[in-house]
Amino acid sequence: MNQTVYMDHNATSPTRPEAVEAAARAMQVGGNPSSVHGQGRKARRIVEEAREQVRRAVNAPASAQIVFTSCGTEANSLALRGSGRPNVMVGATEHASVLRAADAIERIPVDVNGLIDPFQFDEMLAGGGDDKVISVMLANNETGVLQQVEGIARIAHRYHALVHTDAVQALGKIDVDFAALGVDLMSLSAHKIGGPQGAGALIATKDVKLTAVNPGGGQENGVRGGTENLSGIAGFGVAAELAKAELPDMARIKALRDRLEAGVLELSNEANVIALLTDRLPNTSFITMSGVDAETQVMAFDLDGLCVSAGSACGSGKTKSSGVLGAMGIPTEVAKTAVRVSLGHATTDDDIERFLSAWAALYQRKSRARSAA
Ligand code: PLP
Repeated sequence: MNQTVYMDHNATSPTRPEAVEAAARAMQVGGNPSSVHGQGRKARRIVEEAREQVRRAVNAPASAQIVFTSCGTEANSLALRGSGRPNVMVGATEHASVLRAADAIERIPVDVNGLIDPFQFDEMLAGGGDDKVISVMLANNETGVLQQVEGIARIAHRYHALVHTDAVQALGKIDVDFAALGVDLMSLSAHKIGGPQGAGALIATKDVKLTAVNPGGGQENGVRGGTENLSGIAGFGVAAELAKAELPDMARIKALRDRLEAGVLELSNEANVIALLTDRLPNTSFITMSGVDAETQVMAFDLDGLCVSAGSACGSGKTKSSGVLGAMGIPTEVAKTAVRVSLGHATTDDDIERFLSAWAALYQRKSRARSAA
């Protein structure tokens, strides 16, 4: 039996051994970071060290607020509900945790490549931005498309709007530079970079007046109540440091991803790569196979020992046609055949060959069935 090939890093990237060790050490400390005694102070030091590791990983200034949360979803919710701006405007291809963070949300349309048109965005702000928080993701979780967040922030700031970016998928795959992007708020999640599940962070400039969504006992500077997830945070800090250090390996991963895409496109002219010619994450491909539902493909790949996914992982484990592709104007019949392949540091040349032969076998089976019908 062949070993499993894991190509679903955008769902969760397997936990790094160093993050597991850091989490285990923190668990053994066991104190509450808010306690004043020695054990509590040990726990506090772990939290503060991780805060510095996360800060350095995204080049946030020393003055920035870094609020640990339970996940990227909570960081997004805190950004959009706790920023003090009543009106929320978000990109049409944002993650569900942004699209569903507030009751009334205005969507910024994207083009067929998933990109926001800066002129259209500028026009949408013509009424003023003082009451608005804008959320535009750095990298899309399904297509990998990179938005021009720096330019979006410049436009939004002309209208005095606050700008949030969901950098959950970008961290560890491209250089994420909070200061250079010029945003006011940024969300991160540990499990996308080989940290533990259940830890995230919201970063904000010192000028953003954050209000807690869950005030609880006033932890995290009164912005996020609840005892900190000590082991998760410790693992997050280590993972953030390693993810930044290992960024140069993304060039190798991109070469593998490009080979995979070229291989699929050579195998069939009925295959397409979404946003092929657009700037994308180096590890991500969203590939359609005409006439075969994504769910069927994912099951077939799984039988061949390959873990891929049909768009974003959702809580129910069910798959439905991608809202991201819908927002890009891609017809449902095409969208429902799209499978996301997301590579990681462990991906090898052999893995790409395994994927291509599984893809070819599935495509041939489908073609035979079609000619028999
Ligand atoms: N934002 C993006 C772009 C994501 O891909 C995800 C997870 O898939 C999230 C936010 C949510 O992160 P978490 O799973 O930590 O809640």
